[in-house]
Amino acid sequence: MTDKNDLMDKIVSLCKRRGFIFPGSEIYGGLAGTWDYGPYGVALKNNVKNLWWKMFVTDRGDMYGMDAAIIMNPKAWVASGHVSGFSDPLVECEKCHHRFRADQLENKDKCQDCGGKLGGERQFNMMFKTFVGATEDASSVSYLRPETAGGMFVNFKNILDSLHPKLPFGMGQIGKAFRNEIAPRDFVFRSREFEQMEVEYFVKPSEWEKSFDAWRQVMLEWCSAIGLEKSHVHELEVPDGERAHYSKRTIDFEFDYSFGKKELYGLAYRTDFDLKSHTALSNADLSYFDEETKERFIPHVIEPSLGVDRTILAVMTDAYREEEMNGEVRTYLAFKPAIAPIKVAVFPLLKNKPELVAKAREVFQMLRKEFSCEFDDNGNIGKRYRRQDEIGTVTTCTIDFETLEDDTVTLRDRDTAKQIRVKISDLKENIKKIIDEENLFS
Ligand code: ATP
Repeated sequence: MTDKNDLMDKIVSLCKRRGFIFPGSEIYGGLAGTWDYGPYGVALKNNVKNLWWKMFVTDRGDMYGMDAAIIMNPKAWVASGHVSGFSDPLVECEKCHHRFRADQLENKDKCQDCGGKLGGERQFNMMFKTFVGATEDASSVSYLRPETAGGMFVNFKNILDSLHPKLPFGMGQIGKAFRNEIAPRDFVFRSREFEQMEVEYFVKPSEWEKSFDAWRQVMLEWCSAIGLEKSHVHELEVPDGERAHYSKRTIDFEFDYSFGKKELYGLAYRTDFDLKSHTALSNADLSYFDEETKERFIPHVIEPSLGVDRTILAVMTDAYREEEMNGEVRTYLAFKPAIAPIKVAVFPLLKNKPELVAKAREVFQMLRKEFSCEFDDNGNIGKRYRRQDEIGTVTTCTIDFETLEDDTVTLRDRDTAKQIRVKISDLKENIKKIIDEENLFS
């Protein structure tokens, strides 16, 4: 029912109205390319990150978690090639001085905002510069990391020395990254401050293809685990000449956003580029000794790189539903239960009946220890259902007069609005089944 063109407006508006995502520093007129996650946004994001950590790190036997510093010795970004080459082509309008990314313009001569003449193209480095310490000169310049990868490469030796892993093994990290994008746009899709979930997986040079294919499968499984429609995710083999400087093979996982098919994630074969460059500049020995073959070599790297914020927007896009119900339009977010911010909301049928409210509070106290749970007695019940539907609450539990007689409650399914009656003593078990996607409502 929703037109593709206005789907984005509806998502942005729902995110603000219901407390998922707000424009950054809004009371000061905002700051382009920054967004603040509100209570449901942060809950959704945490669920996504926890699921990723489980699937990509803890459920495997070959991964080591990391949380490296955001500000690093600037030499790390010299070695990685970011200081010399992490740039986008910039053009500026000579009349209104608006700036654009040249590779995203249809007309490279005329300004799309005022019609003025566009100046010549120049390279613009996207790293945010800062000064470390009390002096502000060239020797104290550093950068906010433009990707989380660097923090893992500089710790490769620490992991080898402290945990003695055998190849293949990997490091996984979730954290903020910063890019001074020339034209931040499309809500959280292209921001200047965002989060990444990245793996650097170290392999023997001869085994990169096997590992690349295995991670490709993991990424597809991930897309379905977070509820993305299979037909909305597309793999693009990035051709020679268009890949990042470090990559010999890259697959972009693209998603059908409302504004077009755009990169959601990347999977890159980074060869031994990073460890070799860091070895050369730091003089640290970043080689690996294979006990079986008695060979010493620099491992090669496969990198699945996933943006948290692009995930949130993709999940929202695929979860957004509108349908006619009783002559009204019902809007709901059909999140996978595993990532839904709220799993269950508890309501008394009427808020002015103390015995119903007391019983509902009792049930709420029992459930909140196990599930992310909300109590709601605001407005009439229809309004409460609408609110919970809009934030994607998996199920709602209503306490009515029958509850007082026989200790049963109503559970309602978010997606179908169907209801079942269950005993309070079986409530937790039933909710667990619903979260595990067992269909109790058919
Ligand atoms: P694009 O071509 O869209 O600028 P990229 O190829 O530069 O993206 P990578 O360097 O591969 O992106 O970064 C890895 C992942 O980090 C991306 O797949 C995306 O999910 C996320 N990401 C990159 N830039 C941004 C951004 N400005 N805002 C939000 N997420 C981003």
